[in-house]
Amino acid sequence: MTTSLSILGSTGSIGRNTLHIIEQFPERFRVRAIAARSNVAGLADQIRRFSPDVAVIFDASRASALQERLSSEIKTEILTGPEGLETAATLEGVHTVVGAMVGAAGLMPVIKAISAGKDIALANKETLVVAGDLVMRLAAEKHVQILPIDSEHSAIFQCLQGNHPSAVQKLILTCSGGPFRNKPRNEFSHIRAADALKHPNWEMGKKITIDSATLMNKGLEVIEAHHLFGMSRNRIEVVIHPQSVVHSMVAFQDGSVMAQLGVPDMKTAIAYALSYPERLRLDQPLPDFPRIGALTFDAPDAAKFPCLRLACDACDIGGSLPAVMNAANEIAVQAFLEDRISFTDIPGIIRNTMDRHTVIHDGDLFQLLEADGWARDTATRQIDTIISRR
Ligand code: MG
Repeated sequence: MTTSLSILGSTGSIGRNTLHIIEQFPERFRVRAIAARSNVAGLADQIRRFSPDVAVIFDASRASALQERLSSEIKTEILTGPEGLETAATLEGVHTVVGAMVGAAGLMPVIKAISAGKDIALANKETLVVAGDLVMRLAAEKHVQILPIDSEHSAIFQCLQGNHPSAVQKLILTCSGGPFRNKPRNEFSHIRAADALKHPNWEMGKKITIDSATLMNKGLEVIEAHHLFGMSRNRIEVVIHPQSVVHSMVAFQDGSVMAQLGVPDMKTAIAYALSYPERLRLDQPLPDFPRIGALTFDAPDAAKFPCLRLACDACDIGGSLPAVMNAANEIAVQAFLEDRISFTDIPGIIRNTMDRHTVIHDGDLFQLLEADGWARDTATRQIDTIISRR
């Protein structure tokens, strides 16, 4: 059986790895649609390699540059903007949509895809962080599977196979600790974006790399796990595991703990989401255990990494607060990447934005997006204030 796929965010790190896997199993997968934000060269190359029916360049101003790179024989329909994304997400005959866009922009197309009855291979964390209640309800209604691509959630998903949900005691998310795990706290204000971008274990995009350095990434993953596995937040634990060999664990009621291990490479998690419940024969190395020697575990340092706490608080209070927390984080991270604010400004901006927000419970999508927009404005104003005080 051939699975028809639509890949949203095809030129990013997850998108490229997904296509790399698909290329090895041409009889098993067919790429029907791909979508990128603005990477014309990357998208043109993928159109030539996969001949999808539809390709979306979200930034409409780049569409003519894309057309110029393609020969007239190419049959792929080129679309742009949110309408283009919606077409790619809901295309007739597509079985699984890979949600690999960065940030809150990934939410809408995933909701459209679920509404159209597509299974989702989900890498975009914000979909569940911003609108987890809504998305999981809609998925249940439409009998749609949400298969995690995030390595931690894939690990938990794999450990849960063959076990009843009521047998679970808690979920244990592992965390590399990021590049500043051993840096003294009093040096944190000197951290520049370039330091953070030298992430040790995993290859990722810029935004998620900064989130990994602040541990916000792990906070977002706690919220993601809460929704994906229907687990209350106080039964989700985070442990620092610098080797990134144990990708996460599930503790059961009888005291047994199951873990999923592997080399730190996204391809295994992506492949499992695409082929579930089967496993593909990938050309992946196994962990070299004698060379690794020791696997170590530690508690996260809440004083050095306040973002983890902020995300857990947002998860506990729920409603529109996780959306607000996430939006403020996106704005702060962008400003940090542009060297406009310091590393230690990030949590303060998020906390102040959360404190000023009046939480809406059981809000619809419109209200959640409105809260997201409000948080972006509020965080932007704080950044302006921080810069003007210098
Ligand atoms: Mg992860």
